[in-house]
Amino acid sequence: MRVFPQPQINTSPKNWDDVKTTTCYMCACRCGIKVHLKDGKVIYIDGNRDHPVNKGVICGKGAAGIKQHYSPARLSKPLIRVGERGSGEFREIEWEEALRTATMWLSETRNTNPAKLAFFTGRDQSQGLTGWWASQFGTPNYAAHGGFCSVNMAAAGLYTYGGSFWEFGEPDWKHTKYFLLFGVAEDHASNPLKTGLGKLKARGAKIISINPVKTGYSAIADEWVGITPGTDGLFAGALIHCLLEAQKIDGEYLARYTNSPWLVIENQGGADDGLILRNAAGTPLVWDPTTNATKVAMTFGSDPSLLGRFMLPDGRKVVTSFTLLAERFSSDDYSPETVSAKCGVPAETTRRIASELAHTAFNEPVELDFPWTDYLGRRHEKTIGRPISMHAMRGISAHSNGFQTCRTIHILQIMLGTIDVPGGTRYKPPFPKSIPPNVKPAGKLGQVKPNTPLPGPPLGFVNSPEDLLVDEHGTPQRIDKAYSWDAPLSAHGMMHMVINNAAKGDPYDIDVLFMYMANMSWNSAMNVPDTISALTNKRADGEYVIPKIIYSDAYASEMVHYADLILPDTTYLERWDCISMLDRPISEADGPADSIRQPVVEPDRDVRPFQTVLLDLGYRLGLPGMTNADGNPRYPGGYPDYIVNHERAPGLGPLAGFRGKDGTAAGRGQVNPGQLKAYIDNGCHWYQELPDNMKYYRHVNWDYLDWATFFGFLPRPDPIIHHVYSETLQKFRLSARGHGKVQPPAEHKRRIETYFDPIPFWYPPFEGTMVSETEFPMHAITQRPMAMYHSWGSQNSWLRQILGRNWLYIHKKRADKLGIKEGDWVDVISHHGRIKGQAKLLDGQNEDTVWTWNAIGKRSGAWGLSADSPEAKKGFLLNHLISDLLPEREGGYRYSNSDPITGQAAWYDLRVRVEKSADQKNESWPQLPKLKSLKKAFVK
Ligand code: SF4
Repeated sequence: MRVFPQPQINTSPKNWDDVKTTTCYMCACRCGIKVHLKDGKVIYIDGNRDHPVNKGVICGKGAAGIKQHYSPARLSKPLIRVGERGSGEFREIEWEEALRTATMWLSETRNTNPAKLAFFTGRDQSQGLTGWWASQFGTPNYAAHGGFCSVNMAAAGLYTYGGSFWEFGEPDWKHTKYFLLFGVAEDHASNPLKTGLGKLKARGAKIISINPVKTGYSAIADEWVGITPGTDGLFAGALIHCLLEAQKIDGEYLARYTNSPWLVIENQGGADDGLILRNAAGTPLVWDPTTNATKVAMTFGSDPSLLGRFMLPDGRKVVTSFTLLAERFSSDDYSPETVSAKCGVPAETTRRIASELAHTAFNEPVELDFPWTDYLGRRHEKTIGRPISMHAMRGISAHSNGFQTCRTIHILQIMLGTIDVPGGTRYKPPFPKSIPPNVKPAGKLGQVKPNTPLPGPPLGFVNSPEDLLVDEHGTPQRIDKAYSWDAPLSAHGMMHMVINNAAKGDPYDIDVLFMYMANMSWNSAMNVPDTISALTNKRADGEYVIPKIIYSDAYASEMVHYADLILPDTTYLERWDCISMLDRPISEADGPADSIRQPVVEPDRDVRPFQTVLLDLGYRLGLPGMTNADGNPRYPGGYPDYIVNHERAPGLGPLAGFRGKDGTAAGRGQVNPGQLKAYIDNGCHWYQELPDNMKYYRHVNWDYLDWATFFGFLPRPDPIIHHVYSETLQKFRLSARGHGKVQPPAEHKRRIETYFDPIPFWYPPFEGTMVSETEFPMHAITQRPMAMYHSWGSQNSWLRQILGRNWLYIHKKRADKLGIKEGDWVDVISHHGRIKGQAKLLDGQNEDTVWTWNAIGKRSGAWGLSADSPEAKKGFLLNHLISDLLPEREGGYRYSNSDPITGQAAWYDLRVRVEKSADQKNESWPQLPKLKSLKKAFVK
């Protein structure tokens, strides 16, 4: 037989000549990637197997970064507006002219009143720098996008247990046996959550997803609970109700590690009503059942009483925090039968889930052979945990009841004793933080002065009305009204209010609006038409009501068209970045981690990295932190120079790894000139695994607290006792009742009194209570698709092939009742507006809810897409339906459409009705006038 030679086929040809590591920016997970290059061009991106976040996994978005990098929508040159705003008429200018212009505008403002600069950034991963820059400039008007994303989630966690979900914590994937996932769209926790869910599935752990929509994670969960939007707090409260009823709570955890036994003063009408009883040194007191008297909390001896009302020798009455909590949730208001109809969850389902939680927590504990020492010096030979973990995100957050809902979920975790225990929800360093974190927002009256930095950062955590940024009349001091009586605990600012407030001069006019990668004239705006008006309205003298707008972005988004000066940014593959402990690092639960981006290719356009531009502007403005005593720039090498050489406190800089002269110090250490090279040699990341005795119970773990203090995460190694009862909220309530030096104006009193309840509670989302349920019977929400994250994902030529337009998803039964068929064009009408989109019918969603993918719809002419692209002609946004203000005036005052505690934008409170459209033309509505192509500004 004749033997033919076998062709040699190389199934994995090496077609690259270089591979560089860096950090992905296609979503917020910040995975490590390896960028393959040939002849200086990016040809392939895959995951870095050595990276702590993704361990080699790459998702579709991450792999499609190549198309982001070579997007035809990239800006290529600084631009200055020459026509009217929105006309798309710009002149290309050189960087020197751009920077001189920006410096002139900004210095005029800084010389007179720095608060007249509003500096807001979008999905900015350099907030350690941008916040510091604002503080150096002297303006309190700074925030990133957290106020319209998930501040409820972050703030509720930080005010309750010193941590939070998402970037601040994660389930103990190795040991969890029962996992509840509340309101998580696929985008916000991509590779880490997917790989974690894979681990749970492999071990047979139970996953329950509570979400109005059964896509993504809900579709692979063991059980999907198709809850009605805005009722998660009621559902979590009902689970607590069942646990209390069955007496399945972790009493030891509550007594030792939470403020459940702390005594609360009951003195109705008094200035101390609801405050924690403290001794002369300010230490909380508890009730000692053995002596029948008070004793200092957090001390040795018998465990204090968890339940009970007591009389003090001076006649005052006190009650334990836990008694108030138990009274709240034992009430029939939270019984599964009572809440069933509102939540859309059968009572037997709630009762079964509660009993499964109790069984797993109390019958299946996890024991690890990790001895550890608690804050009292008590040695524990084993680390024991109850293997229930939870995770939640924007579906919970983006409601006007989101803060208290998130707190309720945390209370549920705490009652089961599952925070930072084996199998529970774990902190990621630098968390846990003190409750609340010990940074106050700067910008109080008298702190904003010409040519003077603020005495602290613009964002922080208030602990009482005295910390608010208001004047003696209660007038907000920030343009977004953050930290005012409108939203006292607005820890991430309220970016969604900036443009409309500024246009109205409420509370004051601004001179310059400076924004970075925030598409505020389109998919990041509530009330798109009015936002566009606010950007284009003029005063009687012909000047725009917002006189100057500087904007930096890498792409020709809708917002570019409404700016006066454009500073084109690089792509994420062309610049240095630092994913810093001073901001939101990439830490794992087992230890701190941070990372960098390095430029893997040089820009082929006349663009500059925004962070370096910001430092340059800082030097040109003479900001002290960016200028040496001799007048020269402090960081002449730009952002990489800053990353290495900046110190926020002695020995503490943006990067925690490879510090010290020889690069061997971690956390705290001298500046290391070779730090960036050390990171690159290590795959652009640094990670330090904690020893086993410091991996759990970190809020009360003696060794961890000492270590975290050295690392600069904590000011002191004090235990972080969970606040099931929030004295901070009670202080605001007391102010509304007329106590204390700082009190709300009359029109705010009822609202503060109502919502600042120290024990979490559920109340209906505001919009639903203010519009007619008959007229607007349905809920409308958005989800991010798995394939896209930023609005920039929907102009990516690979990702567009997955989703080139969006649809309005309606439950089949509801559609049938409404006479709507698959493919019909339908009108969606809210109290604020109307849109038209095309229907798709599903079974897997809450029947009273319609939804769509977010930020797919584009304005015709933007993003370098053709004017008749499907994104523009068939895509649509719900944003047109959402008002930035609530529909009802209270005392002549309109509040923002936000959570009353944190100011979180209440995107998901939206109520609508849906009708088959009379206009079946194959096109979405509204079609705003086509934006002029900025072709000249695009890279060829
Ligand atoms: S999960 Fe996010 S950060 Fe990770 S590869 Fe995908 S897009 Fe990039």
